[in-house]
Amino acid sequence: MSGSCPLCPEDGSRMERGLRLIALSCKTETKIVGMPGWYCSRCDEGIHTPEDMKVSDKALAEMKTRVDNLLEPSEIRRIRLQLGLTQRDAGHRIGGGVNAFQKYESGEVLPSKGLSNLLRILERHPDELEKINEPDIYEYRDNIDAISFVNADFPASMTVKFTHGRQDWGQEIHLIGSSVWFSGSRVDPSVIVA
Ligand SMILES: [Zn+2]
Repeated sequence: MSGSCPLCPEDGSRMERGLRLIALSCKTETKIVGMPGWYCSRCDEGIHTPEDMKVSDKALAEMKTRVDNLLEPSEIRRIRLQLGLTQRDAGHRIGGGVNAFQKYESGEVLPSKGLSNLLRILERHPDELEKINEPDIYEYRDNIDAISFVNADFPASMTVKFTHGRQDWGQEIHLIGSSVWFSGSRVDPSVIVA
C-alpha cells in the first residue's frame, strides 16, 4: 500500500502508516478518535483500509447506540436468551430474518430504535411474545420445497408428503376448522399444493 501521495506526486511524498486524530459526529455528540491509515507526510491526504475503517465504524456505532438509546449487543443477547429463543427463532418471531440476531449480537448491525424498544417491552412482558406471531410457519416454509396430498381423512387429518431437495417424507397433519396445523403451528393453506 505504501507509495506516492496521489495529491502531491511531483515531489514523491510517501504515504506512511500512522494515526491521526479525527472528529466523528453523531447528532449532538462529537468524539475525537485516533484513526489508523496511510497518511501523506506533506498534506492531509489519508487512505484507509477496510480494517482501518472498523475503528471509525465502531466508534460511530457506539455513539449512535448512546445518542439514540439503542440496545447494546450484549443486552440483545441477554433478552433473547431470557425469552428462550435461539438467534434463528428470534429473527423469525421478532423480525429481521434468520441472520438478524447473529448480526445484532456481534455488533455487525445496529438494531433500530423500534427493535430496541420492542425488546425492552418483551423483557418486562415475555408473555406478549406468544401474541406477536406464529412460530413455526416460516421454519416450515424455509425447509419445505413442495407438499402433496397422499391421503386425506377430512375433516380430522391428512397425510401429506413433504419434499425438501431430494428427500421426502410423510407426515400427518391436523385440520382444525379451516386451519391446517403442523408441528403445533398454524400453516397457511396456500402453501399446500394438492
Ligand atoms: Zn500529499
